[in-house]
Amino acid sequence: MNATCNARTTAGKRCRAAAVKDGLCTLHADPKVAAEMGRKSGQARRTKDLLAQERVELSPPRTAQEVRVALGQFISDVRSRRLDPKVAGTLGYFGERAPEIDRGL
Ligand SMILES: [Zn+2]
Repeated sequence: MNATCNARTTAGKRCRAAAVKDGLCTLHADPKVAAEMGRKSGQARRTKDLLAQERVELSPPRTAQEVRVALGQFISDVRSRRLDPKVAGTLGYFGERAPEIDRGL
């Protein structure tokens, strides 16, 4: 049961993952799994790129008015697909706290 995968990596080395099916590891037994993992990591990278852009463009809002301006920017960013809607949702939550920010809470 401790056999390792018989497949070779893209670098030409033997895959060192444990074999689970037909002498292959989970990844090599089902090519779709590897493709799916690659796709997901690609998505994560793209989201990070977007966040990096945001960091350059926005300074931290200090007043409720600045939060409202920032929220307007997020809305247009989501619509132009420059910002992940999930991230915008989190930012929207902070936006709801804007009155508290003004009161210095
Ligand atoms: Zn393998």
